Amino acid sequence: MHKIKCFECGSEITDPFLDACPKCGGILTIETDLDAVANLKPKDLREKPLNVWRYAPFLPVKCNVSLLEGGTPLYDCRALSKQLGVKEVYVKYEGANPTGSFKDRGMTVGVSKAIELGCQTVGCASTGNTSASLAAYAAKGGLNCVVLLPSGKVAAGKLAQAMFYGAKVVMVNGNFDDALNVVKSLADERVLYLLNSINPYRPEGQKTLAFEIVDQLNFEVPDRIIIPVGNAANIWAVYKALSEWKALGWIDKMPKLTGIQAEGAAPVAKAFKEGSSDFQPELNPETIATAIRIGNPASGRKALKAIYDTKGYSTTVTDAEILDAQKLLGRKEGVGVEPASAASIAGLVKLRNEGVIDSDERVVCVCTGNVLKDPDTVIKSCGNILNAEPNVTDVKRVIA
Ligand SMILES: *Cc1c(COP(=O)(O)O)cnc(C)c1O
Ligand SMILES: [Zn+2]
Repeated sequence: MHKIKCFECGSEITDPFLDACPKCGGILTIETDLDAVANLKPKDLREKPLNVWRYAPFLPVKCNVSLLEGGTPLYDCRALSKQLGVKEVYVKYEGANPTGSFKDRGMTVGVSKAIELGCQTVGCASTGNTSASLAAYAAKGGLNCVVLLPSGKVAAGKLAQAMFYGAKVVMVNGNFDDALNVVKSLADERVLYLLNSINPYRPEGQKTLAFEIVDQLNFEVPDRIIIPVGNAANIWAVYKALSEWKALGWIDKMPKLTGIQAEGAAPVAKAFKEGSSDFQPELNPETIATAIRIGNPASGRKALKAIYDTKGYSTTVTDAEILDAQKLLGRKEGVGVEPASAASIAGLVKLRNEGVIDSDERVVCVCTGNVLKDPDTVIKSCGNILNAEPNVTDVKRVIA
């Protein structure tokens, strides 16, 4: 049996509706029952199609709701690797998920759990993608859905998705961290089942992102995985996944987990710079990469453990570096990602220039969300549209 445990004090939690430890307030995590999979072999999994549920033996629920999430491409980015002078660069393209971000991996598991628990209403606070994903999975699962968004700070594509799938969309006059506090209280009052990533089932689904990377590389572990960090559950999920496979002897080393934050929302990167395992919240987080515009990352301490335990790294990138990296990936590799996702590419560029990343490394950048999520930023940052009269001569003139 899988167990719910406090990440901080190790207490076992029996009430599945809690989202924090009743003893110490710590964040929760699932202890995977590795004895139950001790006789399993990678080839047993590989008989199943490549998607989240290939890895069902490592997930703590049975599949009640799925949109066939996961199974996303791992692109071998030769042009990028040549330009940056890094032996191998891969992009794990999470924009190819059903709602266009990796959040779908956590939601298929989280909403399956909600159904198992008999919940009728699910909810979350979100910078956008969590709400888009939850709204879709709630629709598929026949549940009501309430999403709280920071007013005026949600990218158009994400807002459109949450509305489209029929969620009750509530704009709150505050930032993500404020919205999360409200939705936590609603969950305490049992108005809704909380499906933010403090719900320990969400990162369980997100583990499959790392399982797939290793699987797609034929069990040759990359030297480094670079991940954009916002609320910090995803880097933890990647760490947890690979720790489980290492414990089973399926892989023999851990990649250096490298967390990238935007300069204006960087509590984890700042803590890393100081060598600390705890972080100071940023009260006024600001960045163009709205999906990582988070000042008080709920899983920040988990992220720091993931980084230190793997001899990884963390740093910040500026908004300008993010936008440059976004365009670089689009124009060199034909891969379209939203700004937060491009933070991993911007981090690769910066850490290669600083010599932190060696030229002989095999690096995987996780690109978390689709370019269509935030069309306004793209149109602003790419903005030169040519105008012509409707005749051949004039079009030839303007394209010359
Ligand atoms: C949620 C999200 C992130 C941040 O992930 P965390 O688990 O909060 O660190 C990064 N990029 C995109 C596109 C996201 O949707
Ligand atoms: Zn505790």
